[in-house]
Formats: sequence, C-alpha cells, structure tokens
Amino acid sequence: MAKILDQARYKCALAAMQTVQSIPGAIPVLHSGPGCASKLNDNNGTSGRFSPNIYPCTSISEKEVVFGGADKLRSTISNALKIIDADLFVVLSGCTGEIIGDDIQEVAEEFEDAEKPVIWAKTPGFKGNNYIGHDWILKSIFEQYVRKFKGEAPKEKGLVNLFAGVPQQDPYWLGNLRELERLLQSIGLKTNTIFGFGRGLENLQKIPTAEYTILVSPWAGLESAQYLEKEFNIPLLHYPILPIGAAETTKFLRTVAEFTGADKELTESVIQQNEAQFFYYLERYADTILESRIVSKRFTVVSEAQYVIAVTKFLVNDMGLFPQKLFVTDDTPEAFREEVSQETNTLNYDIKTKVEFTTDGFDLQNQIRKMDFGGSPLIIGSNWEKKLAHELKGHFVNISYPMIEKIVINSHVAGYSGGLYLLEDIYSAALSMLKI
Ligand code: SF4
Repeated sequence: MAKILDQARYKCALAAMQTVQSIPGAIPVLHSGPGCASKLNDNNGTSGRFSPNIYPCTSISEKEVVFGGADKLRSTISNALKIIDADLFVVLSGCTGEIIGDDIQEVAEEFEDAEKPVIWAKTPGFKGNNYIGHDWILKSIFEQYVRKFKGEAPKEKGLVNLFAGVPQQDPYWLGNLRELERLLQSIGLKTNTIFGFGRGLENLQKIPTAEYTILVSPWAGLESAQYLEKEFNIPLLHYPILPIGAAETTKFLRTVAEFTGADKELTESVIQQNEAQFFYYLERYADTILESRIVSKRFTVVSEAQYVIAVTKFLVNDMGLFPQKLFVTDDTPEAFREEVSQETNTLNYDIKTKVEFTTDGFDLQNQIRKMDFGGSPLIIGSNWEKKLAHELKGHFVNISYPMIEKIVINSHVAGYSGGLYLLEDIYSAALSMLKI
C-alpha cells in the first residue's frame, strides 16, 4: 500500500540544480513546470552570483503539454544566452517535460556553436532524488563539457580532484570540502575542486590533468567519479567515510598518502601535530566532557548515510559513547546498504548496533520513543527530530537537511577541527538545558 511521506529529508532530482549553481559561473536552465524551482529552492544559500529566482525556466503550461515544449525551450535558451552573464548553461528537465517526451538533448545540441557552452541533464523528479540527480548532473558536465579539454594539457604531478558531500543538500558541504582540501594540501598534495568561491570553469577544465580523484562519500557521487576513472583514466580513491575527529581523520590521511604516494614522513608529522592539538583542546574541557556526564552515554543518528557513518564513528571511537539503533534517511540505493551498515558497525571494541534504512519519519521516531538511553537521549538528526528530542527531554543537534533554525555559512564538521566543532554543538545543546 502507498505510504504518505510526511517528513521529507531530501528533494527530487531536479533539486540538484543546486549542484549546478554551486559551480561559480554555471546556471541551470529549467525545462519544468513554473512551481518546481521555487519549491526546490528553500534554503542554504544561493550561488553567490545568481539567485534561483532568475533561473531561466520554460514554465511548462497546458499549451506545451498538448503541443510539445521544444520551441519554448529553444526560445528560453536563446534568450538566456542573450541576457544572462553566465559561463555555462546546464539545461535540466523536470517531470512534465520528460512525461510529454520533449528531447532536451536535441534542443541543447542546437546551441553547439553558441558563444557560451550549453549542455543538458535529465533530472525528472519521478526518476530519483537529489542525491542521485547530483551524480547525473556531474556526469553530464564531465561528458559534455570537461571531455573537450581531455588531453589539452599534461598531467599535473600531485594534483587531486576532490569531491565530497552533495552541495546545499548537505548543510556542511562547503565547509567540509574546504577542510578536506586543507588536509590534503597539508600533506603536500594540490587539490582541484569545482564548487564554491574562487572555483568554477577553470577548475572543471583542470579535471583531466589531475593524477587522482578522491570521492569522500558513502555512495552519492560515485557514478560520476567512476566515469572520470574510466573515461579520463584518473585513478579513483572512493573513501566512504567522512572523517570527523582524530581517529578517522588520521586514518583518512594515511589512506590518501598510501594511494597518492604523498610524502609519508610529512603525513606522519601532520598527523602528530593535529592529534596533539585535538587532544589539547579536549583535555581543556575534560571535566565537562568526561566527568560530569552532562550528555547521555547513548545516542542515535537520524541522517543521510554520510553522517550516520561519520558521527557514529566519531562519538564511539573518539568520545566513548554508545550507539542505539541508527536510521539512514537518504534512500541509499540497495547496492550500497550492506556496505553502509558494515562501515557504521566497524567500531572500537567490536561494538555493534542496528542500522535501518528508512524514509518513514513517523515510524522511526516511534522507535526512538521506545529506546532506553539510560538518561536523556542524544539525538543527532534533521530539524524533524527537534520536537521529538524536546518531548523526550533529550539533547538535540541538527546536522542534516532540513536545517531550519540554524545557519551554516562556512562551518564544518570534517577533520580534526570539525570534530571539536561538533562537540561544541553537542555540549552546548546539553548545557543549555541545565537548570541554573
Ligand atoms: S517532482 Fe517533478 S514536478 Fe515536482 S518539483 Fe520535482 S521536477 Fe517538479
């Protein structure tokens, strides 16, 4: 029987227009109904160059549904090229255009000789969510734009293409990306990222010159990264764990150094310095963190696969907390579920817990209500879990979408420092509930 999804934790594939807008200079051109973009653009910042309110859109109506929307798309692209100062136009299709069978590829290819590149990606909401849409869009950009630069410049020694969380869907996507970038640079690598300030088309063009690609993500973005490996012959390190805190960041750096041949001595010295600093900060707050037991020893995470794995490893392996049942809410494809479960359960002292893949917020919250946390629960999740945490007199940290009452500008939870920032959030949530 069909179920009602009452607590959306991701959006439809067309929402991956946020992947396009996160590449400075790129703009989505939507072949969709008039309400799609305004519904999908709800948070987490604009591109810094274009507001989603000005995205060119065919606003498909009854007329196009009956007679076809190719002409409207043609005129929309043509006018967008005249009046919008963008460097790359990415035509994206929504449900309506795909259902009526408009061929966006054919229309986009008519602009092959336009002054600015026009490419396309099919992203109808009925085919998947924005985690998958993100991958489709990246693959289209690699296939239709980046491929033109293949072989134009020689390989650059030590250059690494780096991809991590899904732009805007993951509230910490940009801060995490910059921190991972900083970590790779600290061990002597050069990084190439396409998203955020100071990046853009130049960085897209540099992709073929990289020696390696590193994808830090359990599954989102894997297809496009594998495309780079296959078509551009760039070896891929698929690292499924976003490293948070000392233990995982150290493992991450060692794995990257092994894969890329980065200087091992330098890597060990960077690890030693960062770990010493991490534990210095922890020790300063040892009274609060270890002795007063302000935060429950038991926690749950309700989030995308990336944060269920990463937060669990951090809280267990670095902080000695104990996981209750965990909930992965990003509709992880079946093919990756076993691996996500196993990775989440690779913990110190062979600690194991149940991992459920679900999009049913009502059911998972009922399960949390019945759990024994041995005190106030610590719940790390989306804004949907806030009310539940309040009801259970628990401690709540919002780490994933939807994030309604918190703004993340460039903060991060990745790396050594990210672990400390996450602890600040957890202990601030707990301390704010003390009656003093
Ligand atoms: S599901 Fe389809 S109709 Fe709805 S917003 Fe997404 S693309 Fe538009």
